[in-house]
This record gives sequence, structure tokens and C-alpha cells, in this order.
Amino acid sequence: MRFLIKKDSFMILSVRLKTVAVILSVICFLSCIRLVANAVTAASARPNDFRIVIDAGHGGIDGGAVGASGVKESDLNLLVAYDVKECFENAGFKVVMTRRDENGLYGIATDGFKRRDMNRRKEIINEASPVAVVSIHMNKSPVKSRRGAQVCCQEGDSDSLTLANVIQSNLNEYLNTTYTGRGYDIIEGDYYICDCSPYPSVIVECGFLSNAEDERLLETSEYRRKLAYLIYCGVAEYVAIYT
Ligand SMILES: [Zn+2]
Repeated sequence: MRFLIKKDSFMILSVRLKTVAVILSVICFLSCIRLVANAVTAASARPNDFRIVIDAGHGGIDGGAVGASGVKESDLNLLVAYDVKECFENAGFKVVMTRRDENGLYGIATDGFKRRDMNRRKEIINEASPVAVVSIHMNKSPVKSRRGAQVCCQEGDSDSLTLANVIQSNLNEYLNTTYTGRGYDIIEGDYYICDCSPYPSVIVECGFLSNAEDERLLETSEYRRKLAYLIYCGVAEYVAIYT
């Protein structure tokens, strides 16, 4: 009987030890999962996991606006786009460019080229799943005194609105070239490039090719780099605070 009691006690102890071992294993397993999850979360918080799409507007047979000097918007867009790309890559972001050279994205320049060009941009943006899309353009106005950079976004898209406002604030504060002297408000409208994906998207009209001083500045690499850096700062601020 004593033996049996001893045996029962031993069995109970054995079962308890096994239970404790199983519980410890489960805790250890869950801890491992948590450690892995934390590592993934920490890794995903690094900027190089954020993709940015930079879209240089126009290209190929579509030169966009043309300045008095004959400079084409499509060429300036590409130069600014590469400067913006450099800023993001220096900070560890991953950059996807829609247009990478002077050519458009429409294939052969036949009827419907603009639609094909815009469709290709849409495909690239959606494949990239970016944290933000920045489309680079130059402006033109019959009012020759208008100058400075202005940001546009899709009407009613709150994330894009936030992104646009952060970039515009930086441009207003540090570019200081608007003809009003107080900076611009963003423009909300209906833009294909902003509406073709679910990602926060803005168009940055970098300056007016119809304004002699803006045109002169936009043709200097120093001014383009300043613009690019301010655009980068706005997007980085948006990513850091709002995503
Ligand atoms: Zn344009």
C-alpha cells in the first residue's frame, strides 16, 4: 500500500513534471514567436522597407510645358525625379521610378499613346505597393508673374491630402519663391496619377516655366537639388508621423 502510495505519488509527480515541461515548452515556443514577430516589426520599421514611387511626368513625344528658352518640362521632370530618388536612397528608402529615361512609357508612338503611357505608370505604382507616390511636373500659366511650387492631390483622399499639405508646408517655408510671398495652398482635383492606386499620391508642380525667374532657377542643378530635398523632407515627415 505504501509502495502503491509511493508509486502513485511518483506518478502524480511525474505527470506534474511532464505538465510543467509542456507548459514551459509552450511558453518558450510563444516567446520565440514573439521574438521573431518583434524582429519582423523592428525590421519593417526601417526606412529601407518603405518603397516610394517617383513618377517623372510626360516623356517621349509628350514634352509637356515648354519654357521661353525651349527647355522641356519632361526633361526637367526627369532631372528633379533623379534628385528626389537620390535623397530617398541616401536615407535608406527603396525607390521605384516609373519613367527612367527620356522615353515615354507608351511603347510605339501611335494613337492612344497617352492612355498606354498612363496605364503603364498605373501598373508600376500598383506593383510597387509604395508608402507614397510623388509625381514630378512643371507648371505653366498665362499669368507670367505666377511662380513657385504647388502640390496637388486627389480631392477627398485624406491620406494624400495630409501628404500634400506636409510637402507644401516645406516648400512654402524654405523655397520662398511664390509670387504671393506667403506660399500656396494645395490644390485638390481629379488627377489620374493620384487616383489610379490606393496609395497616398501627390503631384508636385515644381515651378512655372511661364515665369522667367522660375525657368532660370529650374535649369540650375542647385535649385533642383533644393527642391528635391524639400520634397523628400515632406514625404519623410509624412512617413514618420502618419504611417
Ligand atoms: Zn506636366
